[in-house]
Amino acid sequence: MSGLAKRQIMYLPGVGPRRADVLRKEAGILSYEDLLYYFPYKYIDRSRFYKVAEINMELPYIQLRGKILSYATVGEGRKRRLTARFTDGTGVIDLVWFRGISYIVEKYKVGVNYIVFGKPSEFGQSFNIAHPEIDLETNAAQVAGGLTPFYNTSERMKKAYLHSRAIQDLQYVLLNQSGWTPEETLPAYILKRTGMIPLSEAVRQIHFPESAEQLKAARLRLKFDELLFIQLHILQTAVTRKHKSAGLICPVVGAQFHTFYNSYLPFALTEAQKRVVREIRRDMGSGRQMNRLLQGDVGSGKTLVALMAMLIAVDNDYQACIMAPTEILATQHYHTLMNMLGDMNLVVELLTGSTSRKERKRMLPLIEEGKADIVVGTHALIESSVVFSSLGLAIIDEQHRFGVEQRSKLHLKNEQPPHILVMTATPIPRTLAMTLYGDLDVSVIDTLPPGRRPVKTLHRYDTRRQDIYTFLRKEINAGRQAYVVFPLIEGSETLDYKALEEGYEQFCNVFPEFKVCMVHGRMKAADKEAVMQKFTSGESHILMATTVIEVGVNVPNASVMVIESAERFGLSQLHQLRGRVGRGSEQSYCILVSSCKLSADTRRRLEIMVETTDGFEIAEADLRMRGHGELEGTRQSGPGFDLKIADLAADGQILSYARNLATEILDADPSLEAAENDLLRRRLHDLFANKVDWGTVS
Ligand code: ADP
Ligand code: MG
Repeated sequence: MSGLAKRQIMYLPGVGPRRADVLRKEAGILSYEDLLYYFPYKYIDRSRFYKVAEINMELPYIQLRGKILSYATVGEGRKRRLTARFTDGTGVIDLVWFRGISYIVEKYKVGVNYIVFGKPSEFGQSFNIAHPEIDLETNAAQVAGGLTPFYNTSERMKKAYLHSRAIQDLQYVLLNQSGWTPEETLPAYILKRTGMIPLSEAVRQIHFPESAEQLKAARLRLKFDELLFIQLHILQTAVTRKHKSAGLICPVVGAQFHTFYNSYLPFALTEAQKRVVREIRRDMGSGRQMNRLLQGDVGSGKTLVALMAMLIAVDNDYQACIMAPTEILATQHYHTLMNMLGDMNLVVELLTGSTSRKERKRMLPLIEEGKADIVVGTHALIESSVVFSSLGLAIIDEQHRFGVEQRSKLHLKNEQPPHILVMTATPIPRTLAMTLYGDLDVSVIDTLPPGRRPVKTLHRYDTRRQDIYTFLRKEINAGRQAYVVFPLIEGSETLDYKALEEGYEQFCNVFPEFKVCMVHGRMKAADKEAVMQKFTSGESHILMATTVIEVGVNVPNASVMVIESAERFGLSQLHQLRGRVGRGSEQSYCILVSSCKLSADTRRRLEIMVETTDGFEIAEADLRMRGHGELEGTRQSGPGFDLKIADLAADGQILSYARNLATEILDADPSLEAAENDLLRRRLHDLFANKVDWGTVS
C-alpha cells in the first residue's frame, strides 16, 4: 500500500498530534515516509555485557544485567532527582533520572531482572548512569541482540519523550504494524545489475540491523539510491534546459574583442585562460543559454576572462554586467577594467550601495537605454530600479557569497535569460561539484600566470612576535607591502573589532617609520575605498584588516600576509587570504600566527596550509575534515539537496557509479518513458516535483 507513504505521522500509533508537532518542527518529519528515512547516525554494539566492577570512563556506553535494590529521591523543585541503586553482584552503581520520576518508579520494579544501557559518568568515587535505557531481561534477544541504532534527537524531542530509543520504537511500529510497506524504487534490471538488496530489506536493516554485513549492504543500497536519484534529476534538468532555454545568440567575435586582444591585452593569456575563453565563446554562439561555472584558484586570472566574455556580448550589441559581493571588490573590478580597456570606446559604469543619488540618476537611464556597455556592481545591480535595455551576459564573481535567490534575480534582468557565468575561487572538489553543479558546465583555470612563485607559508606561535616584526621590517624596507588580517566571527564581533584596533595601535607603535592603515566592515564605503586606494598606490605599507579583504583584492606588490589567530579560520578561508599575496614576481610569504594551545584538528589544518598551496588539495582536506555540509562556500550555493545518508567526502565512488549509471539510463531513455523505467520516473517525480528548478537559477 504505497498510498500510506505520505500519510501524516500523527496517525502512526504512538505519535499523536503533540509529538507529531515536535517531530515536524525538530526533525522535519511530516509523513510515514519521512520517518522511515530518518536514519540512525551511528550504531553501538550491544552484544556485550559488562560487569559493574569493570566500568571505567573509557567506555562510551555500558550494558549491564542486574536488579534495582532501592529507590531514593533527592533535592527539591527543579533539582529533584531520582536515584536507583543497581547491582549485578560485582558492585553497585546509581541510575539517575531528572524527569519522569513517578513514571519510572511505577514502571521499573525493585528486585526484577533488567538490562540497563547508557553512558557512564564519574560521580565522586563511583559511577552513575543518567537516564539509562531499561528493558526486561526476558527481552534480551530483542534489545541486546547486537547493533543498536542511535538517532539524532534535540532537547525538545527528548522532552516529548522522543529520545533515540523512542524513535526506534516508532520505526518498529512503522515497519511492522502500520500496514505500510515502502514501494521499491529501483527497477528489477537495476537491482540485478548492481546487486543491490531490495529497498524493503534495506530500510529494515538500517533501523534493525541483524549483522554488520547486512547493515553495510543496507547503507550501500540507500546511499546509492539517494545519489542515483539526485543525478537523474540533475541530468534530466540539464537536458531539458538545453532544449528549452534558447539562448541569446552571440555569433560574432567582433571589433571590441579583437581590438582588445590585439592592442590592449596587458600580457599573453595563459593556455588555461585561452581554453576557457574559447569555451565561453562557443557557448555564447551556440544558441543555447550559457550556464557556466568558472573555477580558478585565487590569482589565476579570472577577471581578464570575464572581461573578454563581456566584450563578446558587447560585440553582439548586448550589454554585460559583473556582480561582486563587496564594494571593495566591485570598485577594484571597475578600476581594473578601466585600466585594461584604456581608451577603447566603451561605456563602463560602477553601481554600488554607496553610489550617490545624483550618480544613479545619471547612470540608470544610460543602462536602460543601452548606452552603458558594461556595468560593474554589487547587490545594487539586482534592485528593481536597475533596468537593462538588453542584457546579454551576467557574470557573478565569487558566486558562493551570493544566495541562490540573488543570483536568480540577475537571471531575470532580461526578457530572455542572459548568458550566465559564475566564477569562484573556492575550489570545489570533484565529487561535490558533480552533485551541486551537475547541471552547470564547468570550466577550470588550472594554471597560474607565469612567473609566480609559490607562497612560502610559516606557522608561528604568538609568543614569537618579535621575529615576525623583524621579518616584516626587512620586507618592507626592501620595498614590499604587507597585510595583517584579524578574524571576524559572527557573535564575537565586538571583541574581534577590539582585537583589530589594539593590533593596529601596537603596529603603529612598533613601526613608527612605516605607514600603517586599517580597514574593516564598519567603516563607510568611501573611507574604505580611500584606505584601499592608499594601499594599492603603495603609499601605505601595512594594511590591517578584518576579512573584508578576503575576496579578490589584488595588490601585486604586497608580499607578506600575516594572519592573526589563524586557528580561528577555516581552511578555505586561510587559502583565500593567502591568495592575496604571491601575485607579483617576488617571493611572497604567509605567516600563520596562533596561540600555542591548539586542538589536534586545528594543528592539522595549519600543517596542511604549510604543506601545500594547491587549492584543490586544500578543499579536499577541508571536505574530509569537516564533512560536506560545512564546506565553506557551498552552504548557500547548494541546490538544497539534503543528503540523508550519503556522505560526499567518503562516498565519491558510489557517486561516480551512480552518475555513470544515470547517464546511461537517460541516454537510452531521456524521459524515462520505457516501462522498465516506470519506477524511476515515479520516484523522481515524488522526490523533486515540488522543488524549484535549480537549473535555471544558478
Ligand atoms: P582571480 O582569478 O583571483 O580573480 P585576478 O583576475 O585578480 O585573479 O588576477 C590576478 C593577477 O594576475 C592580476 O594582477 C592579473 O593582472 C594577473 N594576470 C591575469 N592573467 C595574467 C596572465 N595571463 N599573465 C600574467 N598575469 C596575469
Ligand atoms: Mg577575482
